[in-house]
Amino acid sequence: MYDVVIIGGGYSGSLLDSLLDGLDTILVEKKEIGSKNVSAVTFMKIVGFEDAIVKTYDSYTLMTVDRDFEVYRFGEDVFCLVDYGRLCKNLVRSDVVREKVVGYGPGKVELEDEVIKAKVIVDCSGIGGENLRRKAGFKLPPVVNALKFERVSSVEWIDPSSFYLIVGFANFGGWIYPIDNNFLEFGMADRFRKREEISFPKIEEARKLFGFEKDSESRSALYPYGFVKKVVKDNMVIFGDASGLTHPVYGMSLHYIYKMAPKLADVIKKTVQGKSKLNEYQRIWRETLRKASSLIAGGYSTWDLPLDTQIKLTKLQMKLKVSSDSILSQMWALDEKFEVYAKHSPKLTDYPISLHFKNLINRIRIIL
Ligand SMILES: Cc1cc2nc3c(=O)[nH]c(=O)nc-3n(C[C@H](O)[C@H](O)[C@H](O)COP(=O)(O)OP(=O)(O)OC[C@H]3O[C@@H](n4cnc5c(N)ncnc54)[C@H](O)[C@@H]3O)c2cc1C
Repeated sequence: MYDVVIIGGGYSGSLLDSLLDGLDTILVEKKEIGSKNVSAVTFMKIVGFEDAIVKTYDSYTLMTVDRDFEVYRFGEDVFCLVDYGRLCKNLVRSDVVREKVVGYGPGKVELEDEVIKAKVIVDCSGIGGENLRRKAGFKLPPVVNALKFERVSSVEWIDPSSFYLIVGFANFGGWIYPIDNNFLEFGMADRFRKREEISFPKIEEARKLFGFEKDSESRSALYPYGFVKKVVKDNMVIFGDASGLTHPVYGMSLHYIYKMAPKLADVIKKTVQGKSKLNEYQRIWRETLRKASSLIAGGYSTWDLPLDTQIKLTKLQMKLKVSSDSILSQMWALDEKFEVYAKHSPKLTDYPISLHFKNLINRIRIIL
């Protein structure tokens, strides 16, 4: 009997594993550690390994499809593009079983020809483990992001020290992550509710629009969006993409995983020592959602508006001259309070009534 079985060796499983020192832990991964198709930008301060940093950035550029843009400068390198595989591999400290989990329930994880018993089971299996979670009785994140991305040759108007978010292509926007002076990652994301038919964004059209020249095959990926409310069941807990732990505005997830992992690790340690119950994490999670409800509701509501309204609101943000510090704290925020400082204050009527209404409904849904 192990103290803990972690299912999945992406960032959430690997980071959690690194924090469970003193416990008898095993990690089950069906492929390689950190092998998911990811091109991720995150805060440099959460990446503890130099060799996992591909490129650093000292500014962020918000852009609309018609190439209107605003640059938020931070005065130093704050963000970086990570090598996902290296990041995850550097973190894992337990033995890794390279097998597929076919099911799990209270106290046991089933492999194809073996059953592993444990005091605590943590499902960090990301989008690939949805069937496992459904069978174990967990709800799935309500929305799926369908992403298409590729490497292209850089062009003259791109600043390699900035990363870009583009509004107006597809429903969750697009991104440009410079890799060096010559190449960049370019991608787009579209959102679908569960049971809607999924199609991947038309990256070819966007590539032409920006004058990019393709340098690699396009890659597709899915990732879940929307916080799951109940994350603990008996001695089982879901974490990372499995729980829909994604920034509601920017879609970034790694630093949210970084923030929540120590809290989960602490509860797991106390549970194994008999000093607490796993359900304590459910309480912490709900409290986090409650405190983050206005940010979460704002994100959900904005991405739910028609594309032309999203573009209008983005241009409004550009006009208001929101401070770089505000942008930084909004990106970082989960349950922390953050203030938005703008040179020109917006009026309530600058925003569509439907946005206020959606915000209210979404907030009630999150809190209840
Ligand atoms: C293209 C793309 C771009 C992104 N860009 C950013 C970004 O810029 N910034 C940011 O912060 N985030 C970004 N994200 C999101 C971020 O990458 C994810 O939120 C994060 O990687 C989630 O980590 P995870 O460990 O929860 O899941 P995963 O990394 O998906 O790990 C799950 C692991 O579980 C394993 N697994 C699944 N099923 C089983 C099974 N049955 N048995 C055993 N193992 C199993 C999988 O093989 C996988 O290794 C991006 C995601 C994508 C796809």
